[in-house]
Amino acid sequence: MRIHLINPSHVSFGLAVITPRWLYVLAAATPSRFGDPVVTDETLEQLDPSSIEAGDVVGIGIHTGNALRGYEVGQLARARGAWVVYGGIHATLYPDEAIDLGGAHAVVKGDGDIAWGEAIEGCLNGSTTKVYEGGKIDPDRFLKARWDLLPRDRYMWASVQTVRGCPKHCSFCSVWRTDGQEPRQRGVDVVLEEIVDLRRLGFRFIALADDNFYPVTLEDLEQASRRADHHRLHELQAIRAERFELMARLAKLPGDMNFFTQITMEAAEDPEFLDAMHKARIKGALVGIESVTAEGLKDVYKGFNLHGRELVARLQQFKRHGIHVLGSFIFGLPSDRAETFDATVALALEADVTFAQFVMLTPFPGTVDFAKWELGETKKKNAEAVDGIPITRHWLIPQARRPKVYTPHPALSADEIRERTQGVWDQFYSLRHIWRRSRAVKSLKNRIGFVLCSKLYRQMYANTGIATDSARHAKSERMARLLAKPCRRLFVAKPMPELQVPA
Ligand code: SF4
Repeated sequence: MRIHLINPSHVSFGLAVITPRWLYVLAAATPSRFGDPVVTDETLEQLDPSSIEAGDVVGIGIHTGNALRGYEVGQLARARGAWVVYGGIHATLYPDEAIDLGGAHAVVKGDGDIAWGEAIEGCLNGSTTKVYEGGKIDPDRFLKARWDLLPRDRYMWASVQTVRGCPKHCSFCSVWRTDGQEPRQRGVDVVLEEIVDLRRLGFRFIALADDNFYPVTLEDLEQASRRADHHRLHELQAIRAERFELMARLAKLPGDMNFFTQITMEAAEDPEFLDAMHKARIKGALVGIESVTAEGLKDVYKGFNLHGRELVARLQQFKRHGIHVLGSFIFGLPSDRAETFDATVALALEADVTFAQFVMLTPFPGTVDFAKWELGETKKKNAEAVDGIPITRHWLIPQARRPKVYTPHPALSADEIRERTQGVWDQFYSLRHIWRRSRAVKSLKNRIGFVLCSKLYRQMYANTGIATDSARHAKSERMARLLAKPCRRLFVAKPMPELQVPA
């Protein structure tokens, strides 16, 4: 009997950019008497079904994007006589779907750090229940990942989580609902221990895979200080102080280490925080810009973001403090018009963001947008469907038949949104613009590396996601495989087995 952990994916690139952290956290959550779990990440290569035997326990983690492939994997494992357990955001939201369509014996809802072990025990002693409530556990119970099980030569970046949860409530995002709005911050020592483990193995680039690395803004502190009761103020100050402590400790790690995280734009108003990030070598951050217009920001409940000239100035502020921005933009918002696409790429270029992603608005389960859209669709007499599957269950439609745009737009057709979005990727990632942005790094070798990585990013995330024709998909996949090898060499370093956790 063996335990399997599987990250399902329809596409495999041979190499991947970032380690899927959950696989190795659940490996740590697997009771040791069952031995080391067999870990399969299908973003590297597809599962070999013969590796699963009757009586094995198979854990499959799904988000909405890979749920369909996850269900195929679950059915396959069940047909081979294995116990099938699902977890992840999508299974948390739709446990019955995993049971009905994915062959699940059980589903773990919420955090799996403790509940996964209980589910395994349940399967093996015949007392399994349909749902294990993992809930939102306290941060001191978050487990360190089993990085010793990681294949050494397949990933460019490792990932470590420092905080779960986000206090915001953006309408297109489910994180604040699934992970909660109260930041759950891990202790500095355990985070450092994990990072040191990874540097010992030769990883010098680490993604701090947090929902929001800046959970307390200056405005939050200001508001809390105006209350008569200062209890909340002290709580927020403690969270902030711990962020600074973490960054001070990161700064003591070997000088070749680099970190990347996810942050809200408000951090640009906090020079002390940005300087601490810079010293800690947190050299880049994904910033959710979403829209360049005031109307667009209202559409997504992100009134705390800026637009127009102020937005450019704020984004440049990150660069001034030595932090590169990966700007994330959404197209297809109700207020978008044809000119919004050009305005967005112009702003991204002017603000000098180092990387950018342009996604099309998709109503994902667990979000405010989805709830509104689903309600509207169910009220319609002839609700839209593809091959009998209602579009409100779009993740169940086979990839090739899945619509790219779901909500009818007041001014633009679905094809127009898709084509214009593709056009924005083309412009932003044209060789001319990439070469200009490559000034961000110094040597010629690094500039060439920057070009390769930009092209890889574009192939992995733009062409395979937005394109409708299968020839373009296949070409992108081939290109990404080709580029991934030389890119990986730029990121890894000589292992440092003797490295100690800095005091
Ligand atoms: S999009 Fe970002 S800022 Fe908004 S709720 Fe989600 S994690 Fe928080």
